[in-house]
Amino acid sequence: MKRAVFLDRDGTINIEKEYLYKSEDFEFIPGVPEAIRMLNQAGTMVVVVTNQSGVARGYYTEDDIINLHRHITRELERSDAYVDVWLYCPHHPDGRGSYALPCNCRKPLPGMLQEAATRYDIDLDNSIMIGDKLADIEAGQAAGCRTILVRTGYGAQVEQAIGPQVTVCDDLLSAVKFLL
Ligand SMILES: [Zn+2]
Repeated sequence: MKRAVFLDRDGTINIEKEYLYKSEDFEFIPGVPEAIRMLNQAGTMVVVVTNQSGVARGYYTEDDIINLHRHITRELERSDAYVDVWLYCPHHPDGRGSYALPCNCRKPLPGMLQEAATRYDIDLDNSIMIGDKLADIEAGQAAGCRTILVRTGYGAQVEQAIGPQVTVCDDLLSAVKFLL
């Protein structure tokens, strides 16, 4: 079985911008390509799991998400880094049409992590979820992973609200250095 690091996207990989979908608005948090390259070199699977309720809300489409992820892939290539798997949840209970689902993939539920584990033979007990929101930590815990909160994005605010049992690092690069 494989070991994975599950990464939240907005606020963890890139600077948090409300309902980001345009590649020209995408901006890495400093050190992120290097951090992902270190995970690649360590033989750890890198799986991005991101809530994208902007689709359900009608702000952008699934194609926009896929195009943005292609852009991020190209940007990572410049640093010899890559994401193994991109997963997103387009749903929201208050959304529109077929996206208006109480699904099991929207974090804090662990559906995306569990789906990745089934598809790619990932050992969740030996894997880590890293993110900047409480929903990331809760999804990781629900899947049986270790968790790290980063202080980028909303993380510094979340840190004030949670107990001392959660591991906290300044950003993704320091989290990866802590892990490896
Ligand atoms: Zn979903």
